[in-house]
Amino acid sequence: MMNMSVHGFVTSMFATGPRYVYECRDCGATLEAGATVCPYCGPTDVVEFDLQG
Ligand SMILES: [Zn+2]
Repeated sequence: MMNMSVHGFVTSMFATGPRYVYECRDCGATLEAGATVCPYCGPTDVVEFDLQG
């Protein structure tokens, strides 16, 4: 039963948060959705994570 409660907590957290997370490939800073420029590195490659993957 403990596993079910943990799963419910994670699911509710993701349900209210963003589905995708974008991070700078160079420094790992979290960027806004669709961003292609890092505030620290300038234009960079952005890594997109699908939280529901
Ligand atoms: Zn960066």
